[in-house]
Amino acid sequence: MFKFGFTGRELGDIADRWKRERALKKQLGLPMRTVFLSPEQVHSAMIAVIDFVPRKSAEIVGFDGLIYQKQTVESVGLFVKTADCYPVILYNESQALIAAIHCGWRGTVAGIIANTVSQISALSVKPNVLKVAIGPGIGSCCFEVKSDVLPLFSDLEAKLGTKIVEYREGATKVNLLRLIYFLFLEAGVKRENISYGRSCTFCQSEKYFSHRRKDCDGGSDFAYVLI
Ligand SMILES: [Zn+2]
Repeated sequence: MFKFGFTGRELGDIADRWKRERALKKQLGLPMRTVFLSPEQVHSAMIAVIDFVPRKSAEIVGFDGLIYQKQTVESVGLFVKTADCYPVILYNESQALIAAIHCGWRGTVAGIIANTVSQISALSVKPNVLKVAIGPGIGSCCFEVKSDVLPLFSDLEAKLGTKIVEYREGATKVNLLRLIYFLFLEAGVKRENISYGRSCTFCQSEKYFSHRRKDCDGGSDFAYVLI
């Protein structure tokens, strides 16, 4: 079975990792024994390749993304949780490879995208056959940054040759989705293999959780992939 998707508020305000996982399985109609792995998410650029599937679901400490190439008969899932940061699912079905990564601005600037694509490449799945689905995150309408971090984005603008920083309504705003998109292109992923929506988690309070809106109550949006 290959399946991926993104969820918002419909899964409920569930802070506990295990309860959240059960709610996701229930929604997807999966057996409760299905193993789901998720990274701890510490706003780093660290990615782990899962080379051994535990018998039970687990959180993998110290990482912001997981890569898995199918080695068992049973389906294995990965998920990341977000509330403004961008969740990204990567896959190549014919080579049975899946990945889920958490792209907040810190991890993105620190190189999580290049790290992920190069580690997937090392598993013989080349960037030009990799598919990327970027889930909902905070839009450039709402992602305001202060001057202390601005140089990080200006440097990337110059490097990638595209506009990421926008000045609107007296505020400096960053288009994180555009930055993520261009970093995937730079890593060798084909334009036609990258999909994304235009939802803003901050604006669409009825659909998504938002850390910056401060109404999460421990809830988060989910991105999952299963193979
Ligand atoms: Zn917005």
